[in-house]
Amino acid sequence: MPQILERNFPKSKIFLWSATSILVIAGSAGSALGHDLPLGDGNISSQPKVGFVFSCQQRFNPNAPGARASGDWLGKTTWDPSKKPYVEGSVNWPAEISITRTGEKRIVKSNNLPTHPTGVFPIQRNDPVYKYDRNNGRITAQDILIELPAVPKIAASPSCVAMGMIGFSITNAAMYNALDARGDDAPAHEMQDRCSGHPQQTGQYHYHNMTPCFDDRRSEPGGHSDQIGYALDGFGVFGIFGENGEKLKTADLDACHGHAHTIRWDGERRDLYHYHMTDEYPYSIGCYMGTPVKLPASLSGRPQGQGEGGDRPPRRRQGGQGGQGGPGGGPQQVISTAAAELGVSPQQLRQAVGAPPPDFQRASQMLGIPAATIRQAMQKARRDR
Ligand SMILES: [Zn+2]
Ligand SMILES: [Zn+2]
Repeated sequence: MPQILERNFPKSKIFLWSATSILVIAGSAGSALGHDLPLGDGNISSQPKVGFVFSCQQRFNPNAPGARASGDWLGKTTWDPSKKPYVEGSVNWPAEISITRTGEKRIVKSNNLPTHPTGVFPIQRNDPVYKYDRNNGRITAQDILIELPAVPKIAASPSCVAMGMIGFSITNAAMYNALDARGDDAPAHEMQDRCSGHPQQTGQYHYHNMTPCFDDRRSEPGGHSDQIGYALDGFGVFGIFGENGEKLKTADLDACHGHAHTIRWDGERRDLYHYHMTDEYPYSIGCYMGTPVKLPASLSGRPQGQGEGGDRPPRRRQGGQGGQGGPGGGPQQVISTAAAELGVSPQQLRQAVGAPPPDFQRASQMLGIPAATIRQAMQKARRDR
């Protein structure tokens, strides 16, 4: 049963979390929209820019693992969330999260298992979305301990957002930026469950956009959204509604996807900067206005040794990639088999690992696939020969 061990949120916001009171997940994130959203593919910048992700990673591998196909929800320049299918299932998790303030610090301690039900991951073969996305990540408890500044300050200049965790939600999910491992618009391309979440390689459950499974009571004055989480610079992240109760658009916010006005902060009214989620790309934090805390690689959700991406296990393709090497299989056959397993071409894999012995680190950087995954695929191909 999901359980919040402790919440140190403002009193008026404390409410009991239980399996029955958490949320309403009927309906969908998109059904309320009913119209197309701009597709964010390519909107990556190397400086703060409204409507873009100011990404620390600037080069993306277009062949990195990710969704393998798309359907009628995806147009050339737009996508329609109301038409996008969900990963099926409803799995409950023993969520544990505490957010406490100790002097100048805010401590987030969590097992990263969501307070709401999730879809079934890895995506099952009989799930209709399997044809689009074969995310084989398995939701796994993480040992999250983050120390944030309790009252963050605006930095001299904004800074870029990394791949992996950029914030943490009180629904016990990590918050990621808008990008998938290819640098594309993740919510438009990748399969998510009804709560707009999914796990990546190390099993970290996360959102790229607003979850419909957050109980936004809009209890701030004017119907402004409640706080859904914290960015890694310590500033709050709020839902999609602004001060006048209006649904915020990306153009209403600054380049980092936030603004400043009076909000409730640790029980007090304070004029403070904060971020907002929006329905539109980039959905969430576009850059940091404060100074983000540094996370150890094991916490960030970005698999170690992975030069590109960090999100999503390898896409698999069936057959069609072979051709090199005769029957019985030599080194060429190993490459072909492993390449098919990894969802890249044999040429790409051969180039990436180089002359024997294979350089898995280099391959990882070139392909945007974790070194361990490449090593395993090649070992398996060797065994299966
Ligand atoms: Zn606001
Ligand atoms: Zn993701």
